[in-house]
Amino acid sequence: MNQNRLFNSTRWRLAGFYTGVMGAILGLCSIGVYQMVAHAHWQSQDRELEALSGVLHDSLEPILQRPGTIESSVRRVLPNLCILEQNNCQAQMETSSSRHILSVLHRDSYYYTRFWDLSGRLVATIGSVPEDIPTKLETETWQTLKAKNGDRYHQISILLKTNRNFAWGYMQVGQSLREHESHTQSLKTILLLGLPIGLVLVGGASWWLAGLAMRPIYLSYQQIQQFTADAAHELRTPLSAIRATVDSAKGMDFSIEPEPQSILQSIERQSLRLSQLVQDLLMLARMEQRSIPIKFQPCCLNQIIDDLIEEMSPLAIAAEVELSQEVWGHLPLYALGDEDQLYRLVSNLLINAIQYTQKGGQVKIMLKSDDHHALIQIQDTGIGMTLLDQAQIFDRFYRVHIDRSRSSGGSGLGLAIVKAIALAHQGSIKVQSELNRGSVFTVRLPLTKLNFHISS
Ligand code: ADP
Repeated sequence: MNQNRLFNSTRWRLAGFYTGVMGAILGLCSIGVYQMVAHAHWQSQDRELEALSGVLHDSLEPILQRPGTIESSVRRVLPNLCILEQNNCQAQMETSSSRHILSVLHRDSYYYTRFWDLSGRLVATIGSVPEDIPTKLETETWQTLKAKNGDRYHQISILLKTNRNFAWGYMQVGQSLREHESHTQSLKTILLLGLPIGLVLVGGASWWLAGLAMRPIYLSYQQIQQFTADAAHELRTPLSAIRATVDSAKGMDFSIEPEPQSILQSIERQSLRLSQLVQDLLMLARMEQRSIPIKFQPCCLNQIIDDLIEEMSPLAIAAEVELSQEVWGHLPLYALGDEDQLYRLVSNLLINAIQYTQKGGQVKIMLKSDDHHALIQIQDTGIGMTLLDQAQIFDRFYRVHIDRSRSSGGSGLGLAIVKAIALAHQGSIKVQSELNRGSVFTVRLPLTKLNFHISS
């Protein structure tokens, strides 16, 4: 329960950090996108103004004759021109013609053009010039003006020359910034609305990803907890037995009782079980940490099997089980590895096979080779196991037949050690079994080059 809370709070924290970092990145990206789009829009407006003023400039300069004076030739090119001195602006607007491309452009209230003479007097205008913008001539090329009502305008100023190359005056082409501002405003709204939505999505994804990343850690944490509980339970059994024996011995009167031999034997038996258990646990832990240096050397598997058959015979005879071996091929097979560990691997499997086979049954050990690998098979006609158990018997402390295992001093670590040894030798182990029919354990170990030298 507590661990669940710990993992949940860690998951929340991870998701929170991730969302925070992503939020900062998204925020920075949004600012960047906003700046870029606004800048691009601004530049495209500038280019429009430049193009328009360029066309006007090129059309007017060849026909301008006297500085600050608008001749009739100019009015032919710009029929919409409103000459302030003549006060003909309204009339010009009404009789506007669409004969010239510039007139079409200038009918649009979006743009305005102002002509100033060199003394700074406004001479003529085209388009709807905003009334409340400053009426003083400014000669910098680019200017942004603010009208009294708050509207902003952007304009370009160009010096015009007469056809004799004398300065004529200034022409200013400008446009309202309303469209630009509404464009950037809607972009800002989209980004400001999109950011929280994006953050919610990122938060959900982070929560899911944090769970995914923590799942294997959580599972292995649970396994460690299970292992600690199982180990404590296994250690407690012999310890309790020793304590009980000692307690009962304390109340005995040894002057009357026979020799305390049986008490000592019981304590010795339990201590042996205890130390075997501790040794097995240590071995497993070291193999997992790879802190046991494996002395890799060519080991003759035929020799190991011969020795084990000899060693296990009394056990098989006592269990009334027929023990036999079958070796395929004439040449001995060598595997590269630690002889003691390989010995332990095969002996664990043989002991199990004898132990889980009923009286009158058979246990056979077979050795063969297959494509650069040695196969050691231990086959029995014993009690077998279900498919579900086959999937778990290599787990530490897993026991199918708990009573049988306990009575023979088994702790449920034997097959876990077998698997660890096989893996440490780049080998593998698998089991095939049928309930009440028997089991076959197959160990696959890579052969050494020695086999190929001998056979060639
Ligand atoms: P144990 O010390 O209990 O034998 P192992 O790890 O060696 O522990 O084996 C795990 C469990 O697998 C055993 O408790 C037993 O139930 C089952 N098992 C192992 N070998 C055999 C076999 N040859 N036939 C049937 N069951 C077996």
